[in-house]
Amino acid sequence: MKEEDTSVLLIYTGGTIGMIENPDTGALENFSLEQLQRHVPELQKLEFRIDTYQFDPPIDSSDMDPEAWKRLVRIISDNYDRYTGFVILHGTDTMAYTASALSFMLEGLGKPVILTGSQLPIGVLRTDGKENLLTSIEIATARHPSGRPVVPEVCIFFENHLMRGNRTTKINAEDFNAFRSFNYPVLASAGIHIKYNNVQIHVSKSNSALKPHYLLDTNVAVLKLFPGINESVVEAVLSAPGLKAVVLETYGSGNAPRKDWFLRRLREAGERGMVIVNVTQCSAGTVEMERYETGYRLMQAGVVSGHDSTTESAVTKLMFLLGHDYSPAEVRRRMCKPIAGEITV
Ligand code: ASP
Repeated sequence: MKEEDTSVLLIYTGGTIGMIENPDTGALENFSLEQLQRHVPELQKLEFRIDTYQFDPPIDSSDMDPEAWKRLVRIISDNYDRYTGFVILHGTDTMAYTASALSFMLEGLGKPVILTGSQLPIGVLRTDGKENLLTSIEIATARHPSGRPVVPEVCIFFENHLMRGNRTTKINAEDFNAFRSFNYPVLASAGIHIKYNNVQIHVSKSNSALKPHYLLDTNVAVLKLFPGINESVVEAVLSAPGLKAVVLETYGSGNAPRKDWFLRRLREAGERGMVIVNVTQCSAGTVEMERYETGYRLMQAGVVSGHDSTTESAVTKLMFLLGHDYSPAEVRRRMCKPIAGEITV
């Protein structure tokens, strides 16, 4: 593939990667994409076109929200035909949510969309940001000899690992190795060479066109169980005005208390049309509600399995499905079927 046929759109949303220490206060503050480029002179050595788009002002990823996801989808879709791939610089804190949301919103994606960031700002000597940025660009432009992109997926690249975005979770607030994909193999490992795990990478249909989605419904909540949880707390969540779906974070392989009040509250909410999805609190493994009686009772109460979904993926998938105005039964059905490789059924 000729280098002049290659191009990347680098979208800078914010996050530590693009921050610099304020000499007066010591606090990290955002700086501009130009400053970022100045700190990575290696970018100039790449012999293909890198265009940039910057969120103005850049945002800490704690401020990411569905509006910002829609903006990203719009940018990618408006520029889709012009670039070989897309790299999104993003804060690490909510990167897994953004990656999950984009994987659902970019239906028919046939090009790489690689999210990356860093634990140390790019202006700091020991930064992990340079490596993450340069390797992400390389992955976003990788093509098979036939010209097909090697990774036509929404991914997170972090500290040598390329992971399917909707399988990824931030697991460490300090280490460079901050993300994991517990329930799906990594898509590539970067050492001297970037080794792609081609059998695990989604193959896009050559004739598929990008179909961007912009409708999300945020009437979703996460309810994490713990021994001793009060009925009033469960009730307050399940009866929150306008709430349409709950991600229930259960124990082990999808187990929950067998207390009458608890199962009754779930059943009543389900009968009112609330979609309740069972996701395990464990980092790895899957929900199997038929395995123990404690899980079986949930199934009987109308709770559906989230299989081996991350919470990030379950939350954003619910927003996406509810945004389509499907009936509760249809949302429940679609939660059990993969849209973008987010669950193993
Ligand atoms: N608070 C930052 C953010 O998520 C942390 C980071 O980028 O690593 O935007």
